[in-house]
Amino acid sequence: MKIILLILLLILAVILAAVIKTCLTPAKQSVWQPKEDLQREQMYAEKLSEMVRYETVSVPDEDQREKFLGFHKVLEKLFPLVHEHLEKTELDGNLIFYWKGKRSDKPLILMGHQDVVPAEGEWLHEPFSGDIEDRKIWGRGSADTKCSVMSFLQAVEELLKEGYVPEQDVYLTSSCTEEVGGPGCPKIVNELKRRGVRPYIVCDEGGAIVQEPIGGVKGYYAMIGVLEKGQGNLLVSARSNGGHSSYPPKNSPIARLAAFVNDIEKHSPMKASFEKETEAMFSTLAPYGPFVYRLLFGNMRLFKPLLVKILPMISPQAGALLKTTVAFTMQSGSDGRNVLPQKATLNLNLRYIPHQGMKESNDAIRRIAAKYDLEVEEIGCYDYCEPVDIHSAAYAQVEQVVNEVFPDLPVCPYVMTGGTDARFYQEICDACIRFSPVVYGPAQMKGMHGLNEYLDTYSLPGAVDFYKAMILRNH
Ligand SMILES: [Zn+2]
Repeated sequence: MKIILLILLLILAVILAAVIKTCLTPAKQSVWQPKEDLQREQMYAEKLSEMVRYETVSVPDEDQREKFLGFHKVLEKLFPLVHEHLEKTELDGNLIFYWKGKRSDKPLILMGHQDVVPAEGEWLHEPFSGDIEDRKIWGRGSADTKCSVMSFLQAVEELLKEGYVPEQDVYLTSSCTEEVGGPGCPKIVNELKRRGVRPYIVCDEGGAIVQEPIGGVKGYYAMIGVLEKGQGNLLVSARSNGGHSSYPPKNSPIARLAAFVNDIEKHSPMKASFEKETEAMFSTLAPYGPFVYRLLFGNMRLFKPLLVKILPMISPQAGALLKTTVAFTMQSGSDGRNVLPQKATLNLNLRYIPHQGMKESNDAIRRIAAKYDLEVEEIGCYDYCEPVDIHSAAYAQVEQVVNEVFPDLPVCPYVMTGGTDARFYQEICDACIRFSPVVYGPAQMKGMHGLNEYLDTYSLPGAVDFYKAMILRNH
């Protein structure tokens, strides 16, 4: 009895110490605000507008080279110096621009995709209008991610105009199949491999200057994507001899699939835990949040076991940062209302986290499937990406560039639950940074792949300056 009391007192004392420490540690505030530079904004917005007006929707398994060659004509017109001075390679619509530097031991790659997702539904401005109104540029691709492509091409255009020669080799690359997970980026990477290029830093889309990255953490933050989860599908099938629905047998295919789903929902085999990068993300943001936030995330070592339990309950997004997720996405049964299926199927979409990677996660699902006599087929599975070392010189270099271009903007590592083209560069680069130097507020989060995509034009001068500084600081 005495021992229990003693332990309780000890726990209380530790929590009290954490509360006092939090009270004594001053809270921080992100004071950075987007700047106004109307002249440059207008000039860049007009270029981006032209790029948006040329529709570049990618379609899976279709040869769309001609369409993208047309888009390259637009680029040629908008960025004449890039086309005059850089060595351009075109691979089935995918692009590599090579800008020879004084040295080649630390090549830099700036990249972004040319293609966009289809635009359905009713839009406030036509999706391929490229309308510029009230310091906003409207249309599919304005935020995802023709803004980055425009900005790095413009950065090089301006540096060329000044007669600048980069210290290190620079490559600008752009695939035209990112949105359909097509072969574009692998073609680019293969070509770079053939040339023996080992990039020091690759900078792709992913994180961004995000407004309120987590509920309650006000202001803007440069969220630098350093870890990307893997992805895959498991097609789970249940078979039977069919039969008539007027005398249904027990354990018919759909009943077994239902029991299987229920089992996973109730006793998830996926383990929740903080990756190093997830922990760094929360603890970096902690001082900017409300008191409870500062208390919990500012004393991670103490509260981690509790956070692992409560975060997934509070929000699915937070939960997705802690474990491999399983989403049930497609189902099939018989074709007739009164026919029992001979085969029923269910598709599981998984996103793999390092502490429980592809093999371990798929095996866990297989074990449960076996209990219900189900078959499992893997479709297009690939594992998580090796995280970028947030203590590396390459990461520090990007951090320094952000500090220089966006003073007072806090920099924070970011864990990505979605996929990017950058993963293909993993085999040739240790620092694949996922960061678009533009402001993504709630409207952009909703608009990407959704209705009414737009970008605030105030994002553009900073984005151009960011890519310039990336080139200038890489020596
Ligand atoms: Zn994108």
